[in-house]
Formats: sequence, structure tokens, C-alpha cells
Amino acid sequence: MGQHGKLYKTHTWKALRNRQLSHNPLCAFCLEEGLTTAATIVDHVERHNGDREAFFNGDLQSLCKPHHDGTKQRIEIHGYDPRVGDDGFPMDASHPFNAKASSEAADAREFFREYAIRNTQTRVRIAADATVTAPGVGSKPSADDQGTGGGHSRALTHFYHVKGL
Ligand SMILES: [Zn+2]
Repeated sequence: MGQHGKLYKTHTWKALRNRQLSHNPLCAFCLEEGLTTAATIVDHVERHNGDREAFFNGDLQSLCKPHHDGTKQRIEIHGYDPRVGDDGFPMDASHPFNAKASSEAADAREFFREYAIRNTQTRVRIAADATVTAPGVGSKPSADDQGTGGGHSRALTHFYHVKGL
């Protein structure tokens, strides 16, 4: 609130805030992560910087306090949302990964898609082998192969290596 406290004290803002919370009672960022959390903060999607027009007519979103204080501020500090989606790609179009030359980004996406397909096929094959042969050392996929996390970072390393980046 800080320096724009006067705007937040207006009846117009209080009405806007109430309407936003009654229409959207859950934190929008938590919803994106598949969580349902009660929102306590009505946030301006774009910074208003004390501009009355932006303050009263700008798009609003309902957020929980951790998301308002955390993610939102990281977006404002870095200029992008650092979170990564379920597919392993940064969700924000402004993320440096997505902001690279579009042909290069398309290239990277294609690379990851192929990698993910290969990785899945390998896991399926390993799983099939494991049921035929006695499950022993070597036939078990490592913990790293099971999750998307480890595989993704290896893919990223491999991608940068292939690209000479
Ligand atoms: Zn939240």
C-alpha cells in the first residue's frame, strides 16, 4: 500500500476490492498451481504507480499473501515469472527462455518434445523389461528417470551442449 495509501482508503477502491473478492475468492496463482487458497489481497495486474486511471480501472486479481509478497514481487523485480509449468517450460512468455529469438525457442521446444517422447519410451521399455525379467540391479529406472525434474534439467544441459550455448 505504502505511498498510495490514500487511493486504497477511497470508497471506490473498497467497493472494487469487495467485488473482486466476492467474484474471485481464491488466489489466482494458487489456482494455476492446482491449489485452492482463499485470497486476501486484491492486486493490480499491471503496476498502477499511483495513477488514478490505472488504479481504479486496471485489471485486478485475487492473491494469497505469500503469492502477493513472493511471486508477484519476483515478477516485478525480474520482469518475468520464474515459475515452470507441468510441461517443464517456463509459463511466462516474458521469461528469458521464451523471450529468445522465436525460431530458437521453437527449436528448443521441438528438442524438448522429442526428448520427452524418447524418455517416456525408454521408461515404458524399462518398465516392460522389468516385468519380464526379474527386477534386479540395472533394470530399475533411477529415481531421476521417473520424475520430470531430473530428466528436464538433463535435457536442458544437453540442449545447451548441442547448441553450443
Ligand atoms: Zn496463492
